[in-house]
Formats: sequence, structure tokens, C-alpha cells
Amino acid sequence: MKIALIAHDKKKNDMINFTIAYKDILIEHTLYATGTTGSKINEATNLSINLLQSGPLGGDQQIGALIAENELDLVLFFRDPLTAQPHEPDVSALMRLCDVYQIPLATNLASAELFIKSLERGDLDWRRIIDERESENK
Ligand code: PGA
Repeated sequence: MKIALIAHDKKKNDMINFTIAYKDILIEHTLYATGTTGSKINEATNLSINLLQSGPLGGDQQIGALIAENELDLVLFFRDPLTAQPHEPDVSALMRLCDVYQIPLATNLASAELFIKSLERGDLDWRRIIDERESENK
């Protein structure tokens, strides 16, 4: 599965702790992250991550583009609900695209934990079936 990881500044520690805790599961998947989030995860866990631009510099839009290209199966986006973000329109656009394309989106640690456990159980394997069907139809 292809998973995007994003955390606003005040949620980066949560994201790092999450990726340390679930490293054994995450290592089995292809990971993408916005610049600062991805660098910090990599430093803490040594997980291999496809680094995009920093969120405010276009990273959220790059993740949106990956969703539109059916290149992502899951988005874990730890949002800070108490701080105004200069790139709020990009954040909204990314979440909107998750809804357009039926991509599971967790916006906080508690829901991310449920998703990662579902991933381990194979509950998200329907995404793989969709991908296989789409590549057969190309
Ligand atoms: P960052 O971007 O990982 O580069 O900090 C996250 C965001 O604010 O969208």
C-alpha cells in the first residue's frame, strides 16, 4: 500500500511517536511525506520515505496530485485544529480529494491507530483490488 504521512508542526511529535510505535508495519509499505514531517520521521525511524515539498511550499498539493492519480491508498494527516495554517486552502483541497476518490483519511492519532491496525489485518486490501482492476483496464 502507498501511504502519505503529514503532520502540522504541533503534531509532529505525535507523528514521530506513531511511526516509531508502528515501524514494523509501516516498513512493509511505500511511504510518502511532506518535507519536514518526512525528514523527522526518517531521522527517528530510518524508514525509507519519498519526500515531497514542505506542506506550505506545495507538499500538500503534491499529495493531492498523487491521490488524483490513484497513487495513494491511505492518508495519515495529523492536523493541528488550534493553529491557523497559511496553507489552509491546500489542506482543504487535499482532504476534499480524499473524499472525491474514497481514500481513507485519518486526521488524528486515534483514528490513525485504527487504520494502521486495519491495514495489518488486511481490511484495506480492497484498495489493492481496485488498483489491479484499474491496471487491467488500461
Ligand atoms: P511539513 O508540512 O511536513 O513540511 O511541515 C506539513 C504541513 O504543514 O502540511
